[in-house]
Amino acid sequence: PRGAALLTDPLLNKGTAFTERERDALGLRGLLPPRVFTLEEQAQRSLASVGRKPDALEKYIYLANLQNRNEILFYRLVMDNIEEMVPLIYTPTVGQACLEYGAIYRRPRGLFLTLRDRGRIAEVLHHWPLQGVRLIVVTDGERILGLGDLGALGMGIPVGKLSLYTACAGVHPSYTLPITLDVGSDNQELLDGPVYIGLRQKRARGAEYDAFIEEFVTAVRTVFPKALLQWEDFGNTNAFRLLGRYRKQLPSFNDDIQGTAAVALAGVMATLRVTGGTLAQQRLLFLGAGEAGTGIADLYVAAAMSEGLSETEARARCWFVDSKGLVVKARDGELADHKRPYAHEHPFIATLGEAVRTLKPTALIGVSGMPQTFTQPIVEQMAGLNQRPVVFALSNPTSKAECTAEQAYAWSDGRAIFASGSPFPEVSFKGRRHVPGQGNNIYIFPGVGLGALASESREVTDAMFLAAARTLAAMVDPADLELGRVYPALTKIRDVSLRIAAAVAAEAHDLGLAQAARPDDLVADIRARMFEPVYREYA
Ligand code: NAP
Ligand code: MN
Repeated sequence: PRGAALLTDPLLNKGTAFTERERDALGLRGLLPPRVFTLEEQAQRSLASVGRKPDALEKYIYLANLQNRNEILFYRLVMDNIEEMVPLIYTPTVGQACLEYGAIYRRPRGLFLTLRDRGRIAEVLHHWPLQGVRLIVVTDGERILGLGDLGALGMGIPVGKLSLYTACAGVHPSYTLPITLDVGSDNQELLDGPVYIGLRQKRARGAEYDAFIEEFVTAVRTVFPKALLQWEDFGNTNAFRLLGRYRKQLPSFNDDIQGTAAVALAGVMATLRVTGGTLAQQRLLFLGAGEAGTGIADLYVAAAMSEGLSETEARARCWFVDSKGLVVKARDGELADHKRPYAHEHPFIATLGEAVRTLKPTALIGVSGMPQTFTQPIVEQMAGLNQRPVVFALSNPTSKAECTAEQAYAWSDGRAIFASGSPFPEVSFKGRRHVPGQGNNIYIFPGVGLGALASESREVTDAMFLAAARTLAAMVDPADLELGRVYPALTKIRDVSLRIAAAVAAEAHDLGLAQAARPDDLVADIRARMFEPVYREYA
């Protein structure tokens, strides 16, 4: 393209940074104001523009528009200001953006596939303008963050996740494709609203839903045979089933189950560097027994078994309280499959408080989507049982966290090792600085995806997520631990993703799943492939 068409192609557009030579050669003369700016100057100007926006949602909208206008500049800005930008382009702001996606919707990004496309899904996939898609994030919008069923408004999530793949792991933007499967919504209030952008019907279930997904997966394998598929924010009855059914049919994983598992387990592993305990000695009590909770427990079990516990012994160290109370054997008949391995022989307990008193956990992990459920008496109890109680309030967005960072420190006399799903500001308690760790999947999925892509792995295995968790935990500095932070600073995210990618690719090669040739130096090979937002000179 040349002339005005160049200015509307976000992957090629440089805006005011087109050089004099390019302006002459490409028919841009007159279409741009005279002064030529550098990428750095543009990034500074954009940062100032973000700063002038009055609230987070306005900042999100500005950044989304920038991304649609000039991707190099967008990624330069995001990468150079990662701690400030991630909360704007992802959780927590993305949650609010999804809620308002109908109202703020301006320009399409990604593909919408709906029930009406049955029989021609492959054809619709061909409408995507870029060839060579390698990475798809797909949602059906049923369980967006902890916000529930948002139907087609869920599109904000695959868009945001794929931006993070590029910013945090250097996956080239042209490789990425966000997809929303619109199968209806059971959120009646949403359907009745004036600006809802999706199909106005109840969610398809059962055979109709399954046939739709089957056609979708088949179409992806045909149209984008090299693509890795990430399942994102599906309701839990579908999430576990789809993962089980498709994980060997195409390289795919579920971030809510497996990515969460790895990031949370990495956090637990890092706490051991503070407490001096072993994984096998932990007793984990989860509030919430859904995708996140049982995903974490399953990966913990794999890790503890590699340290010598039997499967039964490892499972016995994980306990769950769901919406009905403690998950125990007596409830077997009513329990979903994913909970059953953790239904132990034990009297039923109705409340979390009672469960903490009875089971004496070393770590309390909140993945319930229920805010303020880690109450003062519960945190105090944890602090009475443990010198350094581990309290992870992982529910997103911020408004759903089981407790705040400040509460966790205050109620444990400053002894809690706290992490959350959404960011909390640091806390000064009794003159001491505490920096809460953010147990954000961002530390895991970009690296795992990059490693799977680089090795062209046929499958994404649990062993890869375990390798990712170990790599992440090892990258936490002693200085971070000193401040109570069990994750590395976000400013190190590119290096974290690179190391995880190398560990994942090594697994793929070792397991015979890699289709790419094994390079001599995995880290160097992957580093060389990572996208850097710099302008190319158009000759
Ligand atoms: P999910 O599959 O829907 O599971 C939610 C679980 O919470 C279910 O087991 C549910 O119980 C339980 N629950 C609901 N209300 C409860 C209550 N009042 N008391 C106790 N348990 C209750 O959802 P998910 O994918 O696991 O996600 C859960 C939360 O974790 C979300 O807020 C999500 O944002 C967060 N999350 C965080 C991260 C992260 O920080 N890295 C990653 C993924 C998810 P029933 O089974 O009885 O219905
Ligand atoms: Mn998710």
